[in-house]
Amino acid sequence: MLDAGRHPNIEIMTHSELTYFEGKAGNFRATIKRHPRYVSEELCTGCGQCVEDCPVVVPNDFEVGMGARKAIYSPFAQAVPYTHIIDRENCLNGEFLVCNNCVNSCDRNAINFDDPGEEINLDIGSVIVATGFDVYDATAISSYGYGLYDNVLTNMELERMLNASGPTRGHIIRPSDRKVPKKIAFIQCVGSRGEGKEAGCQYCSRFCCMNAVKDCMLVKQHESEIEEMAVFYIDMRAAGKGFEEFYQRSLEVPELKYIRGRPSKIVEDPKTKDLTVYVEDVETGKIGRIKFDMAVLSTGAIASKSNKKLAEVLGIDLDENGFLKTDAKYGSPLHTPREGIYICGCAAGVNDISDSVAQGSGAAAEAEKYVAKVRIEEVKEEIPPLDINGPPRIGVFIC
Ligand code: SF4
Ligand code: SF4
Repeated sequence: MLDAGRHPNIEIMTHSELTYFEGKAGNFRATIKRHPRYVSEELCTGCGQCVEDCPVVVPNDFEVGMGARKAIYSPFAQAVPYTHIIDRENCLNGEFLVCNNCVNSCDRNAINFDDPGEEINLDIGSVIVATGFDVYDATAISSYGYGLYDNVLTNMELERMLNASGPTRGHIIRPSDRKVPKKIAFIQCVGSRGEGKEAGCQYCSRFCCMNAVKDCMLVKQHESEIEEMAVFYIDMRAAGKGFEEFYQRSLEVPELKYIRGRPSKIVEDPKTKDLTVYVEDVETGKIGRIKFDMAVLSTGAIASKSNKKLAEVLGIDLDENGFLKTDAKYGSPLHTPREGIYICGCAAGVNDISDSVAQGSGAAAEAEKYVAKVRIEEVKEEIPPLDINGPPRIGVFIC
């Protein structure tokens, strides 16, 4: 993303939406609405002084609510652009309140509360839709107690915990007492491959099996106190280069076991906050109640909420799951029914990272046929050679 942000021939428009679209392949016309961020992209250097002085603290979406951010903030480390943005819903600079701290602390005069946003008209040769996915809301499966029990987390929350720059700096903690859990249950297919009332989607979310295997291996590396991890699964889907070998390696970890069965419920002990998982092991036929300190729900992927509006503007239908429809007549997952509009990643259905990357390359190659004739020469920045006759200098290179 940083490379794309620095490329002289790529313009990234964040905090923007497509509001109007017409024309045909090679000659589309689009209107983009750029929402106000109240901080100038040209002037802000991302120094962060305003963040220090902002008095408002709210949950950080990027940390899945486990961390905090200010009302003026950068969405995440290495965001492109790194320009900060003001969350007007929580900001105290309103009709009746008078905070102006960020304005006063910004030496660059980058803050403008009167920013009206902008409408931009573009002539376009072709389009690639890459809207990503949303995460299944685990509170919909009430029998697992997500949102009710402190120690039932989702795979996204565990992912942030495992991250060295995340809210726990890479440590696994049990939310109820902030101790390292000794026994963790991983429950697969939460919101995927479902049947019945609390089912979620019928399709397989494709990446959660391997993600759970990877998380178990990482938890083992990060926390030596772990005594037991159990993955409850329907069947292990390890289709991808090297995935089966990785899964086989995980079978050699003594603390990790796989139990074939979909738990019927999780019950919390209100005093200790420990969890009991009720499950039938379908390989042995044994019905068990197994105690854990923490449970991680492998929530599935659902279609992005933004697909509906975008599909209407682009004139493309959605399928029954809310993903954009592809056109089978081309025999490729990259074509939409509208010539000149291509699709990749989770916009058309759930894909893992490697498939999304391959589709992105394929869609770019297809899209190029309408823009190749107006190819823009890459602007190369000329860097003059250093004068080595001056006084000695010290270079400091980070990462
Ligand atoms: S708005 Fe100003 S103070 Fe805040 S990060 Fe940007 S340059 Fe720094
Ligand atoms: S004006 Fe808003 S964003 Fe700026 S410091 Fe005050 S509360 Fe924070």
